[in-house]
Amino acid sequence: MYYNNILETIGNTPLVKINNITKELPCIVVAKLEEFNPGNSVKDRIGIKMIEDAERTGRLKPGGTIVEGTSGNTGMGLALPAIIKGYRCIFVTTDKQSREKMDMLRAVGAEVIVCPTNVGPEDPRSYYSVSKRLSTEMPNSFYPNQYDNLSNRAAHYESTGPEIWEQTESKITHFVAGVGTGGTISGTAKYLKEKNPNIKIWGIDTYGSVFKKYHETGEFDTKEIYPYITEGIGEDILPANVDFSLIDHFEKVTDKDAFLMTRRISKEEGILAGNSSGSALSGLLQMKDELKTGDLVVVLFADHASRYTGKAFNDEWMRERGFLDSKPVTALDILNRKDAGLISIDMVSLFLPGHKEHIWQHYIPNGQE
Ligand code: PMP
Repeated sequence: MYYNNILETIGNTPLVKINNITKELPCIVVAKLEEFNPGNSVKDRIGIKMIEDAERTGRLKPGGTIVEGTSGNTGMGLALPAIIKGYRCIFVTTDKQSREKMDMLRAVGAEVIVCPTNVGPEDPRSYYSVSKRLSTEMPNSFYPNQYDNLSNRAAHYESTGPEIWEQTESKITHFVAGVGTGGTISGTAKYLKEKNPNIKIWGIDTYGSVFKKYHETGEFDTKEIYPYITEGIGEDILPANVDFSLIDHFEKVTDKDAFLMTRRISKEEGILAGNSSGSALSGLLQMKDELKTGDLVVVLFADHASRYTGKAFNDEWMRERGFLDSKPVTALDILNRKDAGLISIDMVSLFLPGHKEHIWQHYIPNGQE
């Protein structure tokens, strides 16, 4: 058996139980691992859907150019179908996005334009404005607009929701997801609530975003808007894809908690997930008093750790932002560790620069091999 092209491998991502981090919770928590999509994120689901809906309605014509404002993952979700179907891609992103994401977009043939993060959405330099302008001025171009294009949430209504319902054998009680465009949470929630209106839907928001306050008070408060580091979730606009009526609660998570949790997910679960997955799991732990025995929580992990090697997984970057207190480990730290099962050390290599690997080869923790 084989797939006819890479697009046929989108979706049907696995649910994997979280075993260690959620030990203190009374219920089962499983993660929906969207990194198993071919572009390594949840956005593969909406890329193909927005393109095929636009083809059907004549908004995207053969040989056309796709212009989108994207933090990276949607770009990849659009770029893969563009390769298979023969479209050109221009993506507009912000200078806060991971370098890795931009490099990967260029690797799949897209042109990437970087705009400043700290300007308002109406500013002509903002990535919303630049992408809109490019799409109106470029001939034969299509602007998917993942924020307001309802094909986004429809993709999740048609795939993510049914997958979760079937994979949990209709036992899911809570769905937790980070909210950016709102497509993931709203489309999935619509499907799940149609099946069982008692399922709780919790959206994860960032400090610096308007969602939580808007949901709770109906007020769009510009004082809620300030810069933050977490990528992919939280907004300074209200995208049409967010259906606030389907979301039972928004939980805000700090950058620091999100980044530390992202690292714990890889270290303690062996799951290589991205930064917003750390936010989502952190937010769930903040809500632990709302959970009871017998609950089955599905947390959506939106993308892969490889997109954040220069950030969450870079100790120096983490220390510079005050997210990590620990100092870099030196050879002497290792030697001084009482529990170190050190079996042999080449003393010369301890004091010569460039021999770090050599020392590590001789260090076997707790005497285990
Ligand atoms: N996590 C990451 C890493 C993302 O890129 C996005 C998309 N902005 C989200 C979560 C949120 O998904 P959605 O846009 O469907 O709300």
